Amino acid sequence: MGSIEQKRTVTYTDISNLRQLLSNTQAEIRAPTDPNYSKLIDRWSKAAEKPAGVAIAPTCSEEVGIAVKYATENGLDLAVRGGGHSTAGASSTDGGILIDLQSRMRNVTVDEEKQQLHIQGGALWSDVDDAAWAKGLATVGGTVADTGVGGLTLGGGYGVLSGTRGLVIDNTREFTVVLANGDIQRANKGENSDLFWALNGAGQNFGVTTEFVLQAYPQAEVYLGTMLFPATSEIITKLVDALNDLYKVYSTPNGPATKSEGRAMSLVGFAKPPPAEGKTMVLMNAVFDGPQSEGEKLFQPFFDIGPAVNEMRMAPYPTANKLVPAMYGMRSSMKGAAYMMPLRTNFVMDIQSKYDAFIESCEDAAPSVVAWELYDPCKVAQSEEGSFANRGYHFNSLVMPMWSKPENDRRCRQFARDLSDMFKKEIQSHGYQASGGVEGGASVRGRQGAVMLYGNYDQYDELSKDIFGDSYPKLQKLKGQYDPHNMFNKLFAIQPEGATAQL
Ligand SMILES: Cc1cc2nc3c(=O)[nH]c(=O)nc-3n(C[C@H](O)[C@H](O)[C@H](O)COP(=O)(O)OP(=O)(O)OC[C@H]3O[C@@H](n4cnc5c(N)ncnc54)[C@H](O)[C@@H]3O)c2cc1C
Repeated sequence: MGSIEQKRTVTYTDISNLRQLLSNTQAEIRAPTDPNYSKLIDRWSKAAEKPAGVAIAPTCSEEVGIAVKYATENGLDLAVRGGGHSTAGASSTDGGILIDLQSRMRNVTVDEEKQQLHIQGGALWSDVDDAAWAKGLATVGGTVADTGVGGLTLGGGYGVLSGTRGLVIDNTREFTVVLANGDIQRANKGENSDLFWALNGAGQNFGVTTEFVLQAYPQAEVYLGTMLFPATSEIITKLVDALNDLYKVYSTPNGPATKSEGRAMSLVGFAKPPPAEGKTMVLMNAVFDGPQSEGEKLFQPFFDIGPAVNEMRMAPYPTANKLVPAMYGMRSSMKGAAYMMPLRTNFVMDIQSKYDAFIESCEDAAPSVVAWELYDPCKVAQSEEGSFANRGYHFNSLVMPMWSKPENDRRCRQFARDLSDMFKKEIQSHGYQASGGVEGGASVRGRQGAVMLYGNYDQYDELSKDIFGDSYPKLQKLKGQYDPHNMFNKLFAIQPEGATAQL
């Protein structure tokens, strides 16, 4: 194999060739001066938008195939948009071909007999939740309903039901993928099983997934809501104790477990929500997959602390993924880091002081949040599915600055890096070390080589080898087979085996 050439940008001739090639199809093709072009390139984070040379909104795999084949044969830069939530710009291209799946490929159909969901590559989780719920079903999916199925699934996917059902990729049954040469392939455990393995965790690197088939399960209403607590040291101490009790992993005769046996999930963090008039509050979104009486018992220690706002109630399952508002159209960045239970009160308070100091110095960033995600990690840790390299008994934290003015881009991203580094140092106090993020950086692993980095949250600084860990060599081999010219290179690019270009 030779070297990988630099991809080029689109010319007028390319646009006219593509119009010609797609002329007898339903695909929408938009040059920068065309109406609707700006809608195709807009992103959840304004900071992630880039001016594509041409934007194509296909309606089926065949149309995707024509565009991908043209990009590969002509060495053009290529980006694929699912739900558009990558804050690193991984679904955008500066001057290349953009394939926008979200505009016209969002259909979800339910196979009631098999309890499986057939989901087009541009669907949002709200599409999936609503279609499944209409048939009394649900599957693991994003906790913010307007995120895309595409990126979230192909990178692993944590959701409200992860405690009992694992990651999204523990529930994928089949992918339909358009490969770099334009071919349409199916991948499942029996057919193209290596590709199936690669797509389950490193999927953005192997093609355009035009259909996902996910297993779903019978689902009843859940007990859920938001609680808000004043962020005093006394309250934080009590909250940390209650969280440690609810999410501590302990040994049972049947293996590791948490108190709720996987049925409780919480997102807890510092924020400045509107009713708090600029004050920092501890925000807790909680979901219990079970009846109200059991949920109340589990969350009683939190009620006893005295939340200023308590909206816990029974609700249809899709509401669980609407507790966090969509917040479309701000500038945003995202940086995660792993952490272990038990939480340390002093560490949580250190994070609060840094959060407060940052917002005081940059009012534009007041909507920013720092959050601890609390799922029962046992099911995720115990599965062996896919190339995903972050399975373990650890949890994910998330630092998400949100702001409006482009001149604050650098300092807001630096805030995310600084806090993520604090989490990484904290995890060392538990005898672990997250991957370094720089060549030669320390890379001590969690359970069975877990990288302790979630690629869908760590979209800058980290290296592909850090994210894919022990799966990386096999991924390189498969990359050489399925995408030797590295067309799919926007998120933790994998250097194809034998290629000489430095990615
Ligand atoms: C508000 C918010 C909430 C989040 N909540 C969660 C959560 O609950 N759980 C979780 O695990 N993660 C969560 N994430 C992280 C999320 O997994 C990533 O941001 C993910 O990239 C979003 O996927 P998308 O399709 O919306 O993004 P996009 O920006 O469209 O795509 C991201 C990457 O995936 C590729 N891609 C997308 N669709 C396809 C496809 N069909 N075929 C091939 N490649 C594709 C793109 O090319 C790009 O490289 C959240 C992120 C945000 C911003």
